[in-house]
Amino acid sequence: MRKNIVAGNWKMHKNNSETVALLQDIIAKNGTPNCEVVVAPTFVNLKTAVDTVNGKNITVAAQNMHQAEGGAYTGEIAASMLTDIGVNTVILGHSERRAYFHETDALLANKVDTALKHEMRVIFCFGEELKDRQKENHFNVVEYQLRDGLFHLEKKDWKCIVLAYEPVWAIGTGETASPEQAQEMHQFIRELIAKVYGSDVADNVSILYGGSVKPDNAKEIFSKPDVDGGLIGGAALKADDFLAIVNAM
Ligand code: 13P
Repeated sequence: MRKNIVAGNWKMHKNNSETVALLQDIIAKNGTPNCEVVVAPTFVNLKTAVDTVNGKNITVAAQNMHQAEGGAYTGEIAASMLTDIGVNTVILGHSERRAYFHETDALLANKVDTALKHEMRVIFCFGEELKDRQKENHFNVVEYQLRDGLFHLEKKDWKCIVLAYEPVWAIGTGETASPEQAQEMHQFIRELIAKVYGSDVADNVSILYGGSVKPDNAKEIFSKPDVDGGLIGGAALKADDFLAIVNAM
């Protein structure tokens, strides 16, 4: 059975004391959620976050990492540095990384390989831009992002992969995919994976939706059969909003 997951991508928000405060608020108000709860603070606050959530059933993830094992890559972070502080989940391929930091499918395939080599779990993001959807090319775009980023993997690797469909036009815009649009794409993705890897892999991979998920729309989106949770941006920055979304799962 696949897992339900609600993950907060904090992006470049929250300094160290704010990270502690938000996590303490989440911990204090968190009941017994029906899903795994993941938070992804910035790199400098990861160790603090790991120490703060210690034993509280909240997973701390990184928002990115470098593909190399180490070396002369000024400003970058290696997988082994993350696992060393207890961070074993990493978000890769976020559309902001693709758009502003020029991360290509080929680079992401490399990063995925490095993460898996370090036995990390990858939350792999992808999704079409508005122009792709307007040209009705969104299924194609998503298919190629998955093929080029992930379909070199072996079947056994998929237990470490979580997918996050994030249509770029819905990120931070207040505009969400309708629950029907999300379901349609998630079903397409699951069928594609079934074709390539078999239905056992497809049935077991969690597919999260991301893009302006809020307390008032989460329940309907999460009610769709192929939506296994969400990757939350803006609404993950307040404990009440985030937990309302967690509890909608
Ligand atoms: P918003 O929820 O702010 O639209 O961001 C979604 C996102 O990018 C999560 O990774």
